[in-house]
Amino acid sequence: MAERTETESRKLLGRLRDTLAEAGAGQERLDRITHLIADSMGTEVCSIYLFRDADTLELCATEGLQAGAVHETRLRLGEGLVGRVARSGQVINTANAPAEKGFRFMPETGEERYSSFLGVPVQRLGETLGVLVVQSLAARRFSDDEVYALEVVAMVLAEMSELGAFTGEGAALAAPHQHPVSFRGSVGQEGTAEGHVWLHDPRVVVTNPVADDPEAEIARLRAAIDELRGTLDGLIAGVSTGTTSDKEQIEVLESYRMFANSRGWMRRMEEDIAAGLSAEAAVEKEQSAARARLAQVPDPYLRDRLHDLDDLSNRLLRILTGQGRDTGATLPPNPVLVARNIGPGELLDYGRQLRGIVLEEGSVGSHAAIVARALAIPLIIHAKRITTEALNGDPIFLDGDQGIVHLRPEESVASAFRDKIAMQADAQERYADLRDKPAKALSGEVIRLDMNAGLMADLPSLIGSGAEGVGLFRTELQFLIRSHMPKRGDLVSIYSRVMDSAQGRRVVFRTLDIGSDKVLPYLKPQDEPNPAMGWRAIRVGLDKPGVLRMQLQALIRAANGRPLTVMFPFVAQFDEFRAARDHLLRVMEREDRLGRALPEKLEIGAMLETPSLAFAPRAFFELADFISIGGNDLKQFFFAADRENERVRRRYDTLNVSFLNFVGQIVQRCAETGTPLSFCGEDAGRPVEALCIAAMGLRTLSMRPASIGPVKHLICRSDLNDLRAAIEAAGAAGEQSVRGAVMEWLGRQR
Ligand code: PEP
Ligand code: MG
Repeated sequence: MAERTETESRKLLGRLRDTLAEAGAGQERLDRITHLIADSMGTEVCSIYLFRDADTLELCATEGLQAGAVHETRLRLGEGLVGRVARSGQVINTANAPAEKGFRFMPETGEERYSSFLGVPVQRLGETLGVLVVQSLAARRFSDDEVYALEVVAMVLAEMSELGAFTGEGAALAAPHQHPVSFRGSVGQEGTAEGHVWLHDPRVVVTNPVADDPEAEIARLRAAIDELRGTLDGLIAGVSTGTTSDKEQIEVLESYRMFANSRGWMRRMEEDIAAGLSAEAAVEKEQSAARARLAQVPDPYLRDRLHDLDDLSNRLLRILTGQGRDTGATLPPNPVLVARNIGPGELLDYGRQLRGIVLEEGSVGSHAAIVARALAIPLIIHAKRITTEALNGDPIFLDGDQGIVHLRPEESVASAFRDKIAMQADAQERYADLRDKPAKALSGEVIRLDMNAGLMADLPSLIGSGAEGVGLFRTELQFLIRSHMPKRGDLVSIYSRVMDSAQGRRVVFRTLDIGSDKVLPYLKPQDEPNPAMGWRAIRVGLDKPGVLRMQLQALIRAANGRPLTVMFPFVAQFDEFRAARDHLLRVMEREDRLGRALPEKLEIGAMLETPSLAFAPRAFFELADFISIGGNDLKQFFFAADRENERVRRRYDTLNVSFLNFVGQIVQRCAETGTPLSFCGEDAGRPVEALCIAAMGLRTLSMRPASIGPVKHLICRSDLNDLRAAIEAAGAAGEQSVRGAVMEWLGRQR
């Protein structure tokens, strides 16, 4: 940029800052700013349009257009040139505005006289807040320097707006971060919660976007980048080069370092500073531009790099402002964690103190979701933009049944929500009375209710929930939450602590179910077209038995003479079970030879998660000590509907006649050989589904601890023979799902 323009731009920003520092309401400030910009840029018109709601822009201040149009003229997103700038996030610079595509004539503004038009988006961190426009009578295109200068001004406006400079009486804008906002996401873990926002990665607030002394700012920026490089070098040196994951971590860090050394990035930020921005505002301006690009780049590799740049900018901003995670802030009461994403280890560090979790990214099967589920913390994922809206300490309500988050809700919403939570709490209290009673149906059957677990943090629930034992211990969780493969010694101590806490109750240890949605951070991910049907669970265990055998050995040593129950996941045919079982027996022999205590009782079971196993030879049912239906997987393969695909995962009802018939057939096959059968998918924890599964003949259900009370409550009030008859009648009548009939039947029971 030419030196003269640089000085002009700096002067304008200096005047802008002084204007903003003056006392006055938000509207007065905006009026003065439009005057100032028009004056400095030598244009007849300067206008500021801001979003009223997500789709409507409002003229909030103007110099040059009719004053009466302020707060009257509104445009929809995409409408007119201003609406186009807002929608595309791109500058429009034209010498002949009326001839431009989309031009919309607005008589109340008197703007048809103006020929040239320059509109730039007012953006903060990729989010468009409004549009800044200058217009003039003379038909001319604005120079690149002028465009740039207006972009810099727009950036400062966005920062000031974030700080609440334009709010107040008769304000143009509602104060940022004060009004109620709701977000709709997807359910990662059901449940409701009320609490206060805790930002895992608090946003850095730039309070000084304009600076007078460019040299000093450039020196600050360079010093911060040096510090950043030093940190990155330290991190890279600290990662050993052993495992694949380490290599990947190094790759990411190297890519950060590449940006930190990038001349283009540095040059652009230095130009921003020369134009009058402070060092942190310059970093944020480039970060914002990168985010805007991110939204438009389809290429995953480039998107990753832009994400890297985003993270790097955050680190740099923390260095420059001294803000960050170590601000000394303490968790608010009833903290609800809000983050773009979070790793399982970090989530575990927070542990059960969290009331809820809201993520912008993530997936139902992500490790964070698995941990949240294990900790029974309500989780909502895909809550877009919540990290830009929420502030630490904001009141927040999570409706993890509907996937809705209410941030700073109105009193009416808050009180309706509290009623809902109170009702649930009442119900939980009622269930507490049932804790030590058996789940005995009116028809006499006693159903054993176990719980699912996978972390040490789950185990206190074993006593509190009234579960009889652990029907499914997902051992992979211990592998997922670590950044390195756990050693055999670690496993021995974990498993033996699990057995200690169970105090003699039966714990079914499922061997590693890795692959599909559960990807170990330290193993090279398999590039499979369809991982749920790929190389996972026992398939990996049998092809590469080293880890399986290590795990089996750890289980035997942990049992140290106590009874041991082992279950193999995802067995699709008899031979797989036979082979896995042989591994276990051979490991036993070896342990025996080494003089170690062997379990006083050993049960070896299989999970039935693919329809094929239901049709296995009778010998399989005879050999298995027990079978557990993994309903989550079984259902996805039965209906060919991916359990992680939001589009189809709820498409087929568990109470579909075909599925229930199939469950009935599995019960039948197990009955022929006297093989104990249980059901441990999520449906076992949904009271109505659980009741129907019991009516189909299941006598053991394993579920989330919080579900034990509600499931027991319903079983105790039901006659399973009667329900079975209702289910069969609905099937005979040609219903596709028996849900309607079951709900009717339940209605009659009250
Ligand atoms: C299942 O598939 O039902 C199951 C219990 O295993 P997971 O959910 O861990 O795949
Ligand atoms: Mg499964």
